[in-house]
Amino acid sequence: MNPDQISHDLKSILLTEEQIQAKIRELAAEVEKDYEGRDLLLVGVLKGAIMVMADFARALNRHVEMDWVAYSSYGSGTRSSGVVRILKDLDTDITDRHVLIVEDIVDTGLTLSWLVANLRSRGPASVEICTLLRKPEATRMSVPVKYVGFDIPDEFVVGYGLDYAEKYRNLRCVGTLAPHVYQTSG
Ligand code: 5GP
Ligand code: MG
Ligand code: MG
Repeated sequence: MNPDQISHDLKSILLTEEQIQAKIRELAAEVEKDYEGRDLLLVGVLKGAIMVMADFARALNRHVEMDWVAYSSYGSGTRSSGVVRILKDLDTDITDRHVLIVEDIVDTGLTLSWLVANLRSRGPASVEICTLLRKPEATRMSVPVKYVGFDIPDEFVVGYGLDYAEKYRNLRCVGTLAPHVYQTSG
């Protein structure tokens, strides 16, 4: 499938590649300033955060380490429940480390709140969150998100790491899907 065929599946483009990249440079500048003189461990949440992590880490003009976690959240349908099973834990001991969680999107924030509590229990120097996208419901989250790229409407989006049935992660933009995608299976 070529990129034109992929974009045929989009109803609308919410954020272009240029908008995303400009925002990532802004976030990186902010993080560089805030963590000046301190070590920094970026923790990406698989799989959605792969693109943000790759671009964000390269936009940082300083040393960073990168690690990854993967977890599945039990829940009925598309909403997460906050009940979490770790599929891949950190390789890194985060005792006394400054940890910045890198996320693609925060919706309810239930699983993310769980992750923050889990990481905090390991005695890090600090734990903050950076997400490219945030949906309205996330503002009710108990854990504050320090770095937010874009506040977006409560719509299902794909691209730039975000999937629908494991597809569309490789889009450079973020968009919504056309109805025909949901009507056909596979
Ligand atoms: P939360 O625990 O914040 O409700 O769920 C966050 C996770 O749900 C995200 O990491 C992502 O995997 C998925 N998710 C939430 N909203 C969207 C969306 O609009 N599009 C896609 N593709 N995934 C989403
Ligand atoms: Mg995610
Ligand atoms: Mg997904």
